[in-house]
Amino acid sequence: MATHKLLLLPGDGIGPEVMREVEKIVGWFRKRGVGFETETDLVGGSAYDAHGKAISEAAMGRAQAADAVLFGAVGGPKWDSVPYDVRPEAGLLRLRKDLGLFANLRPAICYPALADASSLKREVVEGLDIVIVRELTGGVYFGEPKELVTLENGQQRAVDTQVYTTGEIERIARVAFDLARKRRNKVSSSEKMNVMKTGVLWRQVVSRIGKAEYADVELEHVLADNCAMQLVRNPKQFDVIVTDNLFGDILSDIAAMLTGSLGMLPSASLGAEDPKTGKRKALYEPVHGSAPDIAGKGLANPIAMVGSFGMALRYSFGLIDEADRLEKAIANVLASGVRTKDIAAPGTNAVGTQDVGDAIVKEL
Ligand code: ATP
Ligand code: MG
Repeated sequence: MATHKLLLLPGDGIGPEVMREVEKIVGWFRKRGVGFETETDLVGGSAYDAHGKAISEAAMGRAQAADAVLFGAVGGPKWDSVPYDVRPEAGLLRLRKDLGLFANLRPAICYPALADASSLKREVVEGLDIVIVRELTGGVYFGEPKELVTLENGQQRAVDTQVYTTGEIERIARVAFDLARKRRNKVSSSEKMNVMKTGVLWRQVVSRIGKAEYADVELEHVLADNCAMQLVRNPKQFDVIVTDNLFGDILSDIAAMLTGSLGMLPSASLGAEDPKTGKRKALYEPVHGSAPDIAGKGLANPIAMVGSFGMALRYSFGLIDEADRLEKAIANVLASGVRTKDIAAPGTNAVGTQDVGDAIVKEL
C-alpha cells in the first residue's frame, strides 16, 4: 500500500477547529485502506508561544519530508505586538519560501445549493467553477530594489520593482496549462503588456509555451484590468486564469466573492516537480484567516479546510476518485441544508463546525 505523508499544521484561532474535521475525514479514508500517515505540529502564534518563533526547525524538517502540508490559519489579537520577524504570518512565509511554493491555485466554485442569492443575502454566480493560478514567489512583492528613502529635499521616495524571468513565467504557465487539460481546456493569461515590460515578457513566454507544448489547450490573453471587469460581468467565460503575484492577489479575491462565503474556499500552493520522483512540494490551506471573532465557539465553517484536503487528494496524491467523492459529499451536505451560520439561510437553524464534519463523513 502506498503511503501518503501528511503534515497537519492547524495553527491558531479557528485553525485547530476546522482541522479536527479534516482529521475525521482522513480517518474515514484510512479505514477504507488509503495509506495516510499524519503528523501534527505547531505554527503561527501557538508556535511562537512554545518556541519563540512562528515555526520551529523541527516542524520545517517535517514539512520538507511530507508529501503534503495541510495548513489551518495563523494569527490573532494575542500576537499583534510580537516582533515582526517572528509574527505568526512569518511561519507561512517561511514554509512558502523553503518549500519553493511558486504556484498558488485558488478555485472559485459556487455550489448549486448556495446559488440561491436571496437565501445568502448576497449575489453569487450559479454554477461558477474557475481556478485562478497566481505566481506566488516573484513579481513586485519581492523584486529589488524595494525601498522607502528620504531625499535631500525632504521628500520621501518609495520604490517597488516588478521582476520576472523567463523561467519563472514558463513554470507557472505549465502549471496552468496542465490544470486546464484536466478541466475545460482553456487558459486565460492576464498581464498589462500595454504598460509593463514584465507584461510583454509574460505574454511572449506564455504564448510560446502554449504553442510549443499545449497546442490542444485554448489560450487567450486578457489585460488585467479587463480581466477584473470580465470576472464581474461574465465570470463563467473563464476556466483557468494564470497571472502574476500582484494581479493574482486581487483577481483571486474578486473571484472568491462570486461564490458566497470565505468559509468555503480552499487553496493549494505547489512547488517545482522533483525530476526524479515527479512529486511536488505542496501546501493546502483555506483562503480564510484565523477568524478570532468566532474562534473557540464551534461556529466555523470547516468546508474550506476540508476542500483543501480534497485538493491534496487530487494534486498531491493522485487520488482522483477519492477527491471526486469528497467533493460530492460536500455538495450533498450543503444541499441537505446542513450549514454553519455563515452560509445558513436567514430564519433557518445553523449547525456547528463538528456537525458539518460528521455530516460529510456520513455522506462519504
Ligand atoms: P487574515 O488577516 O488572517 O486574512 P481576516 O480578518 O482578514 O484574517 P478572516 O480571519 O478570514 O479574515 O475573517 C474574516 C471574516 O470572515 C470574519 O468575520 C470571520 O469570522 C469570517 N470567517 C472567516 N473564516 C470563516 C469560516 N471558516 N467560517 C465562518 N466564518 C468565517
Ligand atoms: Mg485577510
